[in-house]
Amino acid sequence: MKQSRKDDLIQAQMRPGVITRDGLLGDDTRALRDIIEADEAAVNRLGLSHVTLAARLRELRAAGARGLGDTVTVEGTFEISVDATRGRLPCPFGHPGLYPNEVVTVRNIQLDETLTFTRLNIHLIASHGFYEGVGSPYRLDPTTLARVLGCGVHQDPG
Ligand SMILES: [Zn+2]
Repeated sequence: MKQSRKDDLIQAQMRPGVITRDGLLGDDTRALRDIIEADEAAVNRLGLSHVTLAARLRELRAAGARGLGDTVTVEGTFEISVDATRGRLPCPFGHPGLYPNEVVTVRNIQLDETLTFTRLNIHLIASHGFYEGVGSPYRLDPTTLARVLGCGVHQDPG
């Protein structure tokens, strides 16, 4: 499907040097709608939703923020640090308001895997189902996200 002019304009905001130095697309050459649809399909296959994943990021960020810059261990599984705000970023989809550009690092101790994300990532997932383009420094692949955050069907109740 041909992408709309509106989506072209949104995607232009995601190029390097517009909102962030590296942009939000990485080396992904797909149309914005195609990136979003592919990630939505992945989220559906996991039996999850954008809102569920965003809520989990928000929850872990809030727990990490209590460390005031120091690493906090949460649920015996995650080491979380929240790096102080360095400026604010607008939403490329044109929402009003600015998102603190703090960097949250979540390490799953058991898996020895680490994720980094910003407040803008949480908003982009919750409101737009956008996980950034493949190769973008802050891309959050939904399958990796679910695994590291311990969300979804793979969890063993035993
Ligand atoms: Zn937005």
